[in-house]
Amino acid sequence: MVRYDYPSDKCSIFGIKKAITKSVQYLPKLLISNQLIPKITIGESFQYLGRYFDFHMSNDNHKTELTTLLNELMILTQSHYTPKNKLLLYSRYVLSKLAWHFTVATLPKTWVTENIDSIANKYIRRWLEVPISGTLGTVFLTNNKFGLSIYPPSVKFIQCQTILRKALKSSPNESTNDLWKATSNHTNIQYDAYNSTTEVPKDFRSGHENKLLNQLTSQGSFFSSVTKFALPQFNKVWSIAQSKLPKNIYNFTIRYINNSLPTRKNLNRWAISSNTDCSFCLSPETLLHIVAGCQFYLDRFTWRHNSVLNFLAHQLQTVDGSTLYADLNGFKSPSILTGDTYRPDLLLSCSNGSLYVVELTTGYETNLKNNVKRKKDKYRELLRQLDMLESIGFDKNHQMYCVGKMMTIAIRTTYYIFCCRNKEWENPDLLTI
Ligand SMILES: [Zn+2]
Repeated sequence: MVRYDYPSDKCSIFGIKKAITKSVQYLPKLLISNQLIPKITIGESFQYLGRYFDFHMSNDNHKTELTTLLNELMILTQSHYTPKNKLLLYSRYVLSKLAWHFTVATLPKTWVTENIDSIANKYIRRWLEVPISGTLGTVFLTNNKFGLSIYPPSVKFIQCQTILRKALKSSPNESTNDLWKATSNHTNIQYDAYNSTTEVPKDFRSGHENKLLNQLTSQGSFFSSVTKFALPQFNKVWSIAQSKLPKNIYNFTIRYINNSLPTRKNLNRWAISSNTDCSFCLSPETLLHIVAGCQFYLDRFTWRHNSVLNFLAHQLQTVDGSTLYADLNGFKSPSILTGDTYRPDLLLSCSNGSLYVVELTTGYETNLKNNVKRKKDKYRELLRQLDMLESIGFDKNHQMYCVGKMMTIAIRTTYYIFCCRNKEWENPDLLTI
């Protein structure tokens, strides 16, 4: 007989007994030091090592705690942080707080997707101002695919289950291995399939990417055309440039990529407005139309073009012993060398006798309608410009700095052009940053 000196209020008792053919929960009477041990009432659960147990193994307490915890954490994250920092908190902190429940509780994946993902998505939408009609799929991609490298809680859940299954399988304890074998059922097979946790988000993202390509192609989005042709080194610069933008422009870039900005075409699709047409030319007002298509907006597109060119010209001015010609006010005109018929945007004549010619096209969007070949040519062009920066003596960092700044100017001017849609153009000064 063992004598327990535990205080009885720290203990509780849970009873299951066989009643004719099936098991039922009952309320056993047990005394320790003449003290009655509190019973777990019928249908209630008890907690052991952080895991809840009830008669039906329902996991209801885990579900409630998960839902409450996630809501509380996401509300905390609501404060004055920028959307970018909120997402950082979400990825680094919030998800890890869910990991315990995701590991010990037996939850169906569909339950997590339907109940937990939906809470996270609701807040992420709010932070990024993405309307319900705009997909979050683009946001879930990695930085180098123009996404934000985040993922929904269900991916974390699969990772937790993968880790748990691996631990059971590779345990030095044989009976633990038996437990793994005994539970290798249809539910767990999906987690056993992963070799490592990094495969989980990869798998999730490639699924999303395929879906997005089909979904967004039909809407003529930036995403579908750019993902095919973009060069990795520029995507990285994009992600850095994007992360430094103020909140409203940052969110603009997200909605730009998933085509959920309030263009008239979209407002009509969302049944908010019956008018789909541009005020100036009566063509359907799509995103492409506003930022690169409308024939009445040409001076706006020139303003964006010249703002980027102006930055590049100022950078090239610093090259020793060279003469710079730029098709901008305040610079020597390239027509001095070339005549007016073929006048490039920029010419740089170096002391070693080499002459660089720059033709600048701003924004990927301008080539959206064109064929693949033109697109590829354009990127080759960009690479050539990098080569030029290299050969005039800009080091790697300075080259990336230039590309990043040019991208930022292109984003900010595009944002401004978008804000001025259907309004008169006031011919602002070139944008400098
Ligand atoms: Zn128009």
